[in-house]
Amino acid sequence: MITHHLSDKLLMAYSAGSLPEAFNLAVATHIALCDECRARLASFDAVGGAILEQAQDEAFALQDGALAATLARIKAMPPVTKPTPRHAQTGVLPEPLAGYIGGDVETIRWRNIGGGVRQAILPTSKAATARMLYIPAGVAVPDHGHNGLEMTLVLQGAFADETARFGRGDIEIADEDLDHQPIAEPGEDCICLAVTDAPLKFRAILPRLAQPFLRI
Ligand code: ZN
Ligand code: ZN
Repeated sequence: MITHHLSDKLLMAYSAGSLPEAFNLAVATHIALCDECRARLASFDAVGGAILEQAQDEAFALQDGALAATLARIKAMPPVTKPTPRHAQTGVLPEPLAGYIGGDVETIRWRNIGGGVRQAILPTSKAATARMLYIPAGVAVPDHGHNGLEMTLVLQGAFADETARFGRGDIEIADEDLDHQPIAEPGEDCICLAVTDAPLKFRAILPRLAQPFLRI
């Protein structure tokens, strides 16, 4: 049961193809797990196509208020249900994430980053960074703020922070306004895909010193 979804802004940017590769990966992987966002994306794709046609027909230019008008139009539309072929889900990692990793969780080459937390950086374009995070059950990630956008998609287990609880398929979207300390739920180790477009802001000195080496 997924309760934390992608924002309209992110779905629209994904549909328009204007996100960095790492963000595309997080959006596409959430969509692979989430029927609701897949249906919303289909609406954005349909509207995006209609806007493009209109632009070509009438040299229609996006003006102030166009975003709000587009959103209103989408909200008024019946949900488009595009039958997407779904492969039987056997492992922890859905596509396109499994393809980036070259297999499921056991293929990941983890690197210790302290306190039992492990990471593996995925190869994407430099505009943003994608990493797999492994947080042992009950363990906390150091308390941090954000210099940009951070999306964290849970693939196994769950974590909680000051704002909510996030389980498999949930995506947390954090920005400059949020300081948080994610803690993995007891019982099952937590595996996430985390993408960022700017370094995190750590309060404690140790993670701050290690940051450049860990590309966090
Ligand atoms: Zn969703
Ligand atoms: Zn964060």
